[in-house]
This record gives sequence, C-alpha cells and structure tokens, in this order.
Amino acid sequence: RQQLYRTLRDKPAQTRDGVPIELLMNAGLAVDLPQLAQSGADGIGLFRTELQFMVAFTFPRVEAQERLYREVLDAAGDKPVTFRTIDIGGDKVLPYFKGAQHEENPALGWRAIRLTLDRPGLLRTQIRALLKAAGGRELKLMLPMVTEVDEIRQARAIIDREVRHLSRFAYLLPTSLKLGAMIEVPSLLWQLEELMKAVDFVSVGSNDLFQFVTATDRGNTRIAERFDPLGVPFLRLLRQIVRAGQAAHTPVTLCGELAGRPISAMALLGIGYRSISMAPASIGPVKAMVRELPLGRLAERMEEMLANHGARTDIRAELSAFAREH
Ligand code: PEP
Ligand code: MG
Repeated sequence: RQQLYRTLRDKPAQTRDGVPIELLMNAGLAVDLPQLAQSGADGIGLFRTELQFMVAFTFPRVEAQERLYREVLDAAGDKPVTFRTIDIGGDKVLPYFKGAQHEENPALGWRAIRLTLDRPGLLRTQIRALLKAAGGRELKLMLPMVTEVDEIRQARAIIDREVRHLSRFAYLLPTSLKLGAMIEVPSLLWQLEELMKAVDFVSVGSNDLFQFVTATDRGNTRIAERFDPLGVPFLRLLRQIVRAGQAAHTPVTLCGELAGRPISAMALLGIGYRSISMAPASIGPVKAMVRELPLGRLAERMEEMLANHGARTDIRAELSAFAREH
C-alpha cells in the first residue's frame, strides 16, 4: 500500500467522474515540513502555531516566530499555507503563562481567540511575525474558537493596526492577506450568513465542533464510541455549513480528524466538501479513495441517507458497502 501511495503522490486528487478535490495537510512544527513534498499534499490547510509555544520554556520572541513562519512559507513554495493564530488554553496549557487560572471546564474557558483578544499583546506580536515572514507573498490567517462574528472584527482591527505599523516603517508587506475563521463553536451556526460575509474563508474544526454539538469531551475514551460523527445529525450540520459557503461564495474547508479517514472523507465529499485538511499520513489513503470515487452517485446516496427521519440509518455501514461496490 505504501508503494501505491507513493505512486499516487504526483497524480491529481480527482474523482472518477472528474471532480478535483483539494487535499491539504495539517502541521505545526518545522519537523512536519518535509511531509509536504513526501505526502503530495496540495498545501497546508492548518498550521497549528501554538505548538511552537507549547514546546518552548517561555514565550517565543517575535524573531523566533518570524523565523518559523518564514521557514514554513519557504518550504511550501507555491502551495498555500493557512496559519491559525495561537489556540492555547483548554487542554493546551503553557506552564510559563502566568495569566491562566484554574478552570472548572477548560474546554469552555479562557482559550484561543478569547484569550488573545484579552491579551492583545500576544496576538499583535504574532501578527507582526506573520506579516514580516510573508512579505512579498500571500498570507492566510485563521482565527480559532470564534463564538461571535464580532470577534472577527476585533481581531481584524488588531491586524490592520499591525499592517499600518509595518507600512509606516517601509516593511515589505504580504501581497494579499486573507482572514478566515474556524467553525468549532455551535453558536456560529446561527450566524452563518454574517460569518460568510465577514471572512475570506472558513474551516470547520470538526473535533471541537463535534465535542460541543454532542456535549462529548473529545478526550474521554469512556464516551468516545457513543455518538458517531457519521450520524445523520452531524452530517446534516456539516452539509448546512458547506451550503452556506456555496451560497455566499466563501470557500469552506474542513480540518478536523474526520478528513483523514477514507470513509469519513468520502462522506464529506458526498455532502459537498471539495477541500479537506488532514494528517500527512492520511493523504495517500484518502487520495487513493478519491481517485476511485464516483462522486455524483455517492452524492445522491448521501441525500437519501440524510433525508431519512425516524429509523436510524447506519451511514458508516452504507458507506462501506458503497466503497466495496465501487
Ligand atoms: C478541530 O477542533 O477540529 C481542530 C482542527 O483544531 P484542534 O484539533 O487543534 O483543536
Ligand atoms: Mg479545535
């Protein structure tokens, strides 16, 4: 199989009926970068910038941040990279961060964009490092754990301020700056129209979204098997997001673990996703699936399955059967 995946590396991820699919990889450290060429991914759909902070003993200085971001962009060359601003707090604790207090429910606590809007110095430093590293190239930024569209406006004000600051000192600025939001908090589902207008792209963080929608701790093995992300409710919700993106002409990707398993990736394509981001090791298996997939026929099957009220459809079993048949 490894041999098969290697031969697929330079082949396009296109379905049997000719639909191109963008397969991106998730990364977070310099050591991940060689995987971009090795896996044949189309780009980095999620660069988790907090990892640099988590492996350090103190806040990385602006120079160290800039160096890493430059290294990432150099390694990616013409391929797109989406940097997510630091997603700390929750289960991602920085021992050296003195502002954090004990929280009863850290997953629901002072984390990600909430924390960086309250400590704008942190965000400003990171934005400055990103803007400098991307001088003369495209920069794509993404905000984690957005709950209200207004948080995007607040983050944008900080970004604009840094852009003005750097241009005053005649730094080379990015050729374009695209700002996106992760959809991980259910409240965004009732602001989809406004959200799609407020950003250049969105990316579904299905790990956190599933955790919050089903009230199921993502790290709790006792309940891990209880609810299936490939069940009717969650797939309907993911379909609603992709349709809202289509209606507003706002690109939608999905970068949670769901994207990395061939069966669930198949479900995502079947409900309309055309761009997904996953661990590098998943690119080969997912691409092999894509190239065999009669997508039109699958989309029809998915419509039928998701229209089914009442009796529980075993979508996972149906998808496995579809995969065997085709
Ligand atoms: C997610 O929540 O799905 C996601 C991609 O972000 P993380 O796993 O880093 O929380
Ligand atoms: Mg998340």
